[in-house]
Amino acid sequence: MAQKRYLFTPGPTPVPPQVLAALSEPVLHHRAPDFRIVYERVLGRLQEVHRTSSDVLLFTCSGTGAFESAIVNLCSSGDRVLAVSAGQFGERWAAMARGYGCEVEELRHAWGETPTAADLARKLAEIEPVSLVFLVHSETSTGVVCDLQALAAAAKDAGALVVVDAVSSLGAVPLETDDWGLDVVVAGSQKALMTPPGLATVAVSDTAWELAARATLPRYYLDWERTRMAQAKLDSAFTPAVSLVVALDVALGLLLEEGLEAACARHARLGRACRAGIKAMGLELFSPDEERSAVVTAAHMPDGLDSTELTRALRDRHGITIAAGQGELKERIFRIGHIGFIDEFDIATALSAVELVLGGLDAPIERGLAATRALEVYAEGAPV
Ligand code: PLP
Repeated sequence: MAQKRYLFTPGPTPVPPQVLAALSEPVLHHRAPDFRIVYERVLGRLQEVHRTSSDVLLFTCSGTGAFESAIVNLCSSGDRVLAVSAGQFGERWAAMARGYGCEVEELRHAWGETPTAADLARKLAEIEPVSLVFLVHSETSTGVVCDLQALAAAAKDAGALVVVDAVSSLGAVPLETDDWGLDVVVAGSQKALMTPPGLATVAVSDTAWELAARATLPRYYLDWERTRMAQAKLDSAFTPAVSLVVALDVALGLLLEEGLEAACARHARLGRACRAGIKAMGLELFSPDEERSAVVTAAHMPDGLDSTELTRALRDRHGITIAAGQGELKERIFRIGHIGFIDEFDIATALSAVELVLGGLDAPIERGLAATRALEVYAEGAPV
């Protein structure tokens, strides 16, 4: 029998069958009326999910492309910007801004720490003014979700625009673009938006549009104005990944039908369940044991064991994909994603498989408890 495969990574994530079915529909032409209907609905749904009345731009690229669009549209060579980092993605944005010739200040934390508004306010008070502050809402490499509202307020108090990487948080963790005064919010299709990789979204505030009009870095494919003008006519500046747009329409429909609040509550419960299972196994959490940590759970490997060995065995023997660490944490932690089309039984499956493989490696773990504990904790939090 063909091996059943399970995807429990924090992106790409499994997608609902309705979304897969949409992907198998005949390819539409991007300037034909039937595509425009879908396009218009997707752009409207993106505003709802981003919680903004501003334009949300849709690009055919990965999340990193959307972020690059923020830098090239908002910056001029030599601009002073600040990147707050505590993991892979915060550091990526600092490196990218530096690559584009910005003068980059960094508030760099150890991987796994949670950036705080107080630290950011202190840093901003110490340095010369910056035009932009880059924040990562959910640092997928560590499982940390920051208090974005408080961090954004600290950046705004210092007169900076706030650019947010919400690639793995949008749709999973509460995020209020307009109410929290976020100037730019970027996300990707392959995370909590339950669609395969290939599309990225950028919400742009009026203030950010004003800055973009003055910014002089070169840009073409990722030029916001070109995309905004095209979208206003329900056109697209370039050929979009039409089938992915059709799929995203279905996925956003499902998300909005559930309701953003309910979806975020579900993710919080999945996170709680996953952490409970990890702890029941006797493993130590790497990601914080807190409600906000609803995107991905990271756990330390038992002493002397390498997480790449665990992930390889899970994949090769059981068809299960979870994530090892990234960067400096590569072999030291493993990560189970709980975004996308994931339910409590997926969490139980992931935990059971981790337990089986670690047990086979003679790791000192408790056996037979994790899946049950996870399911119990999920059920305790269920709405009545
Ligand atoms: N930012 C975060 C928080 C992410 O999780 C990812 C992807 O894992 C990215 C940025 C980069 O997105 P992409 O791989 O789609 O370019």
